[in-house]
Amino acid sequence: MKLQYQKGILAIGAHPDDIELGCGASLARLIAEGYYVIAVVMTAGTSGCNKDVDRHNESKMALSFLGCQQIVHLDFEDTRTSQQLDEMIKALEDVIKHRFPPQVRLIRAYTMHDNDRHQDHRAVHKASIVACRNIPQILGYETPSTWLTFIPQVFENVSEEKFTKKVQAISLHQSQQHRDYIQSERLRTVAQFRGQQAGCNLCEGFVVHKMIL
Ligand SMILES: [Zn+2]
Repeated sequence: MKLQYQKGILAIGAHPDDIELGCGASLARLIAEGYYVIAVVMTAGTSGCNKDVDRHNESKMALSFLGCQQIVHLDFEDTRTSQQLDEMIKALEDVIKHRFPPQVRLIRAYTMHDNDRHQDHRAVHKASIVACRNIPQILGYETPSTWLTFIPQVFENVSEEKFTKKVQAISLHQSQQHRDYIQSERLRTVAQFRGQQAGCNLCEGFVVHKMIL
């Protein structure tokens, strides 16, 4: 008899809003189709931000709005994560090993891309690649700071409904509303650009770090 299991996804971001910007619409679609998603945010993202702002709380609201079943907020030091690689690997391995329910089979990780000007994004990429080594598929997502060398090979064909959900989730990051890249027209432009590359209307694009079919 075939064993029934639920498919699991791990989404990893360095800061609050990285996951939503990079793969928010993809997660919304997967969750709607019954996937079990755990989102891990490695830092509180407080560098360059008013100390009174609770970005973890904004992130919790945004990722809950997308429907993530679990949201794990870690407190690695924003801008200094490259000095905490071992600890980040261990923290991610703990999530992979202990947080997913037994009926869930983890099939894919979404994480940061290595060609990115933000040092935390590069560090989280490095830690993810090690911690996720036994996950069949690892996809790197795009952020506003990925280099021009980000050339996606895999695309999520995003519906208007899921795009709207992504925009709404990102709008819950109230403390970031002054940033150009978080505005809905910018988000649509990026999605249209990736869509054009793939022959679709709106897309999220991903670089393949590993893909076992
Ligand atoms: Zn970030």
